[in-house]
Amino acid sequence: MAKKALKFATKLIHVGGKPDKETGAVIPPIYQTTTYAQSSPGKHQGYDYSRCQNPTRDRLEECLASIEKAKYALVTSSGISVVALILHALPKGSKILCGDDVYGGTYRLLTTVFNEIHDIRFVDTTDLKAVKQALTEHRPQLLWLESPTNPLLKITDLTKVTKLASEHKALSVVDNTFMSPYFQNPLDLGADIVMHSMTKYLNGHSDVLGGCLMTNQKSFYEKCWTLQKSIGPTASPFDSWLVQRGLKTLALRMEAHQKNALKIAKFLEGHSKVERVYYPGLKSHPQHSLAKRQMSGFGGMVTFFLKGDLKKSKRFLEKLKLFALAESLGGVESLIEHPAIMTHASVPKNIREELGIHDNLIRMSVGIEDVDDLISDLNSALSTL
Ligand SMILES: *Cc1c(COP(=O)(O)O)cnc(C)c1O
Repeated sequence: MAKKALKFATKLIHVGGKPDKETGAVIPPIYQTTTYAQSSPGKHQGYDYSRCQNPTRDRLEECLASIEKAKYALVTSSGISVVALILHALPKGSKILCGDDVYGGTYRLLTTVFNEIHDIRFVDTTDLKAVKQALTEHRPQLLWLESPTNPLLKITDLTKVTKLASEHKALSVVDNTFMSPYFQNPLDLGADIVMHSMTKYLNGHSDVLGGCLMTNQKSFYEKCWTLQKSIGPTASPFDSWLVQRGLKTLALRMEAHQKNALKIAKFLEGHSKVERVYYPGLKSHPQHSLAKRQMSGFGGMVTFFLKGDLKKSKRFLEKLKLFALAESLGGVESLIEHPAIMTHASVPKNIREELGIHDNLIRMSVGIEDVDDLISDLNSALSTL
C-alpha cells in the first residue's frame, strides 16, 4: 500500500511502526545503544554512532515526516534546540524577521544569543501591510512565524504571508506546536520549514522534551542534520520511542482537547468574573473565519482575561484543584498559568504590555479529563473572586 493513500490516524500508527524484522515483535525494541559494530573499518550497516543515526529515532522521523506531508524530518532533544539549529543554518549576519508574539524562549534565544550572530527584527505577522513593508525594507533571509500565537492566539494568514516571503526570497518557518499536524499543515499553506516542540501535543504526556523539523528542502534538511551531529542536541533512543508511543493517539487526543476547550471557552465567555476570552473556535475571536479556513480545528489552548488585578489572578490560580499551575502545554492533563509571571517573564514589561500580556491574563492548556469536572473546578475558583 502506498503511503500516500493512508489517512492521518493510520499514519500515526503504521508509518515507522512496522513490526521488528528479526523477531516479529509488534512493538520493535528500543535501540538503546551509542555505537555499532563494523565488519571492517568504515564498513557498517548505515549506523556508526548514535549522535548521528539511531534506528529508533529513524522510525520516529519517518512518522513525523509523513504526518506533516514532508520528505524529511529531523528529531532533536528539545523544541528550542530545533529553533537554534534553524538559526545556525543561516550564514553569519543573516537578516531575520520574526513575529512579535512568539514563544518566550524563541524570543529569548533571538534577543540574547542570535542577536550576536544575525540581524533580528520583529513584526506583527497578522498585519499583512506591516509584513510587506518589513520584507521590503529589511530584506530578510528568513521569516519566523507562529500561528496561533502564544499566549494571545492571534492568527496569521499563513498562505498570504508565506507567499509574500517567497516573493521576497525569504525562507518561511512556521512553529506549528500549538496546532499539531492534526489541525494545521503549514507546508501545504506555503511554508518552507515547519517545526514543533514535541514536548507538547506530539508526545502529549508531559514526560519527554523533544523537538523536530520537517521540510521538503533537501539541502536545508542536510544542513540541519549536519549541525545536529556537530553541535549535539540529539534526542535519546528512549525519548524517541516514548514520543512515537505518544503519537499513536494524537488524533484521538486532539479531538478531545478541542471538544473540551470549546466547551470551556463558551463557559468562560458567559461568566460574570471573566472580561474576555480568546479561543479561535469562538465566533467572537477576531479571526475566527481565517482560523476556520486555515486550520481543520482550533486546538486545546484557551486564553482569557479575568475582571481584576494581579491579586485576583493569583487567588484564582491558587484555588484550582484539577488544573495544575504549571508552564508547558499539550499534555493529557489540564494546565493553567500566568504568562506575565511565568512563560513570558523574559519578555520586557513594556513589550508585554504593548502585546496585551497584562496581569489579569490567564492561559490554559485544556486536557482530556471529563469536561464537567474541569468546568466545576473553574467555577469554584471563579466564585471566590
Ligand atoms: C515549548 C515551545 C517551544 C520550545 O520547546 P521545548 O521543547 O520546551 O524546548 C517552542 N515553541 C513553542 C510554541 C512552544 O510552545
